[in-house]
Amino acid sequence: MNTVIRHVRVIDGKGAVFEDQNVLFNQEGIQKITSEEVTADQEIDGNGKSLLPGLIDCHVHLGCGVLGETVPEEEQGLAMVLQMKECIRHGITTVRSMGTADDSDIKVRNLINSGYLKGCRILASGRGISITGGHGWSMNYECDTPAETRKAARKAIQAGADVLKMFATGGMGTKGSIPNAPQLSEEQMRVVCEEAERRGLLTAAHCTGLEGAKRAIRAGVRSIEHIQMDRETAQMMKERGSYYCPTIVTRYNIIHSTEPEYEFMRKKASPQDLERKKKAIELCLEYGVPICAGTDSIGSVCNNGLTRMGESLLTELGIYHEFGMSNMQVIESATSVAAQMLQIEDETGALEEGKCADMILVEGKPDYNLDDLKELVMTVRAGEILYCRE
Ligand SMILES: [Zn+2]
Repeated sequence: MNTVIRHVRVIDGKGAVFEDQNVLFNQEGIQKITSEEVTADQEIDGNGKSLLPGLIDCHVHLGCGVLGETVPEEEQGLAMVLQMKECIRHGITTVRSMGTADDSDIKVRNLINSGYLKGCRILASGRGISITGGHGWSMNYECDTPAETRKAARKAIQAGADVLKMFATGGMGTKGSIPNAPQLSEEQMRVVCEEAERRGLLTAAHCTGLEGAKRAIRAGVRSIEHIQMDRETAQMMKERGSYYCPTIVTRYNIIHSTEPEYEFMRKKASPQDLERKKKAIELCLEYGVPICAGTDSIGSVCNNGLTRMGESLLTELGIYHEFGMSNMQVIESATSVAAQMLQIEDETGALEEGKCADMILVEGKPDYNLDDLKELVMTVRAGEILYCRE
């Protein structure tokens, strides 16, 4: 079935805006973007609205059990289905799952890819890779030598991972873990990158401290998560072509949380962290390091964890703007730049003929007022309308 969205403002995700377009799409993809009239089986009025590529959250933890709880697989599955719904309801059509307590994100991805389940496109890591007792150890392959690490990378690949998630430093979410302390060695991360490269897979490193980040960048890791940057790391990332995934909303939530269960994280954080994150955004803009949007949303069965999946991406994007990115740069960080980082730019991340129809329709002009992204009218995923405002 063909659908056309008529007289809509198209924000292509790559910096261009086209007024008064007719966008024809179906499950095969975006068929036509034109100012000429086209007919279709279904017509949607796009007057006063903007059409954008579906948003991408490059750092989520699907399911639950990230903070060390043991969770039965059926609860994991239920949590993920609810989280998918929340993502779609907030305009997110792609997520990169960055560590789960088991490989259930890979199983849910397979269900979505085979059409049994409707939801976001998932790029899944399954279990992560860390040192023994390292950050997130309860959900990781634990390894201490390059040979053990290569084996872990191969195990993750065997399980079906799209991305090999490494823990270069300690962090907030594991009790007893020291955020700035380096963990995996450069050599360990290098063997993971070698294994990933052989299969055309993605790599990512959790890096809270700078020493661990430098190891990860030198080892060739594609995306560097969380770090508070200095000039040297910004320069290294630019030279190596690494991407920065900021996840600022989670640090904000930790600092402002009041629940006793997050007390252990609150103690490791400080309000100055947000100033440091602002500096990191400014350095990326200055050095030309690409920023891909990510939240570090951590799930729970009913999606009421520390950083809720879905809505948190819109908060994260608002912070980027507050920290100096233009509205269009912010939109690109969650569309075309994120798609490039994920190596799926041929499929999604931009509104172009031939691309998969992953799109969102919003009221207003988010390139003028980013808050208009919250005025979601419709989410289209692979040509199917999965959310439509009442
Ligand atoms: Zn994370």
